[in-house]
Amino acid sequence: MATAPIQTGPIQTGQIDGNTTDGLAEKPVHDYVGLGIIIAAVLLFVANGSTVLTDFLRSVLTGARPREPMLSVALILNIALLLFGWRRYVDLTREVGQRREAEETAHRLAHTDPLTGCLNRRSISPALDEMIETARTTGHEVVVVMMDLDNFKRANDAHGHKAGDEVLLQSARRIGDILPDRSIMARLGGDEFAFAAIYDPDHVEAIERLMARISIAINRPIEVEGVVLDITASFGLATSADRSSYQPGEAAAKLMHRADLAMYQAKKSGRNRYCWFEQSMENELRFRSELERGIRDGIPRGEFVPFYEKQIDLDTGELTGFEMLARWKSPKHGLLSPEIFIAIAEEIGLISELSESLIRQALVDARDWDPRLTLSVNISPMQLRDPWFAQKLLKLLVEANFPPHRLDIEITETCLHENIGVVRTLITSLKNQGIRISLDDFGTGYSSLAQLRTLPFDQIKIDRFFVSNLGKSKDSDTIVEAISSLGKGLNLPITAEGIETTEVLAELRKYGSFKGQGFLYGQPSDANSVRALLAKGNLLPMGPVIEATTAEDQPEPPRAATA
Ligand code: C2E
Ligand code: CA
Ligand code: CA
Repeated sequence: MATAPIQTGPIQTGQIDGNTTDGLAEKPVHDYVGLGIIIAAVLLFVANGSTVLTDFLRSVLTGARPREPMLSVALILNIALLLFGWRRYVDLTREVGQRREAEETAHRLAHTDPLTGCLNRRSISPALDEMIETARTTGHEVVVVMMDLDNFKRANDAHGHKAGDEVLLQSARRIGDILPDRSIMARLGGDEFAFAAIYDPDHVEAIERLMARISIAINRPIEVEGVVLDITASFGLATSADRSSYQPGEAAAKLMHRADLAMYQAKKSGRNRYCWFEQSMENELRFRSELERGIRDGIPRGEFVPFYEKQIDLDTGELTGFEMLARWKSPKHGLLSPEIFIAIAEEIGLISELSESLIRQALVDARDWDPRLTLSVNISPMQLRDPWFAQKLLKLLVEANFPPHRLDIEITETCLHENIGVVRTLITSLKNQGIRISLDDFGTGYSSLAQLRTLPFDQIKIDRFFVSNLGKSKDSDTIVEAISSLGKGLNLPITAEGIETTEVLAELRKYGSFKGQGFLYGQPSDANSVRALLAKGNLLPMGPVIEATTAEDQPEPPRAATA
């Protein structure tokens, strides 16, 4: 029975093999000139020395004048030459030694991480490629692991960079101590590491055992100057086993990418764990980058359009306005819901551009409606961080010649936790222009009563989750009742979202006066359908406010795209 499925041999962290530098063999440097001078001087010395010495001894013993005085001078010169040559040889040998040392240091710095001594991002790929090649010659495979510390930034910010460095150093050391010999380990930057070990494909369970040991080691508290830090990490694993799924030349890059995808999955699934790479992750990524490209190209092509959902005064049944909801008329996937593309647009930094294009279209659409009808638009937390947001919005209003008091900005409760100071300034400046502000999805984000009091909201919207569960869940009943009395106390009107049935509407009415919206009054529809509806009710451009209709003429709901 094989007992050591993971291979042994010295671990390669930061040690550089002196014989290989970027594939170039080093040339030995010798001082041939110095050496030549010495040899010539020695020969001369031997040839001259005996003659001069005999002549010198004879002159001393007999008192006669030396027969060859020039030869004595030559001998002295010869000695000087010998000393000079020797000196030059020693100097040059030392210089060559120093240069080689400097080159080795430069090489080490270029290939290793100075803090941990691990390989760096640049050098892991060639090392990994070589490792995979070597492993295969003995029928073994390689597992590549990506690791990212979960709470490193917090520890770094709270306890300083010295503590952060210690965490990185300790983590690298602990893993290095556990990894079998002939493994490699690299710090890729920040708190991201990669390591790889050779294993026996008949004993994959050895990898699980290795990961269990590494997890335990990483989770052990780290003490820095009296402060105890609890660190966890997320890992992604990929192996070289399925050779048909990548080209021979791209093994290292492919495996690291796969391990990275798996690590991202580990983060998404709650951190402090490891995930194996699965093919679906690569497919998802492909779909995601397709969506990204689609959004980028779709904005200038006008593929993003506003849809409108009715907002009703539940006491009178009158239409009070519409909430604009973004839709993507994707040429490939059909009509897509904002749940699919808003978050991606935020992540790729296109949300402002997308939102501005939608608001621009919506202002033009709504300008023709009855002036009593309001237009609500959703604003992403990222847009609220933009110091120019208020100016951009006012510019759009001026361009469309749209009265600010008919515009209602919906911001979600979660925005309030991000930067309350900035949000307060922004809300105040928007309100000074006459724009109204609603707090959206209320009940999901734990706002405090104090926040509600100090921020000048015009209305609160109860999240549709609680509304749709009215009469079915005791908790939802309690929350809706509490929000209703909060609204009365703060003198804030309340809108209930997600009214789907007459039963829910009846339940809701028990708790007071509300405005409402939901599928009971129809699916969100495009600008033309809204125009047709308003024209029927004499609300285009001016006329009596129409009675709320229940679902009729409803367009198909948007599809959720699937990978
Ligand atoms: P939201 O602000 O809560 O918008 C209401 C969502 O509830 C809409 O989904 C609407 O179609 C859906 N809805 C309305 N009535 C009902 C109902 O009776 N039952 C159920 N189950 N759902 C109902 P939609 O259009 O998919 O929008 C989802 C979210 O995307 C919105 O939630 C909003 O947060 C965001 N969003 C939409 N348009 C934009 C936009 O232009 N910019 C930003 N930043 N976010 C947007
Ligand atoms: Ca909303
Ligand atoms: Ca909402």
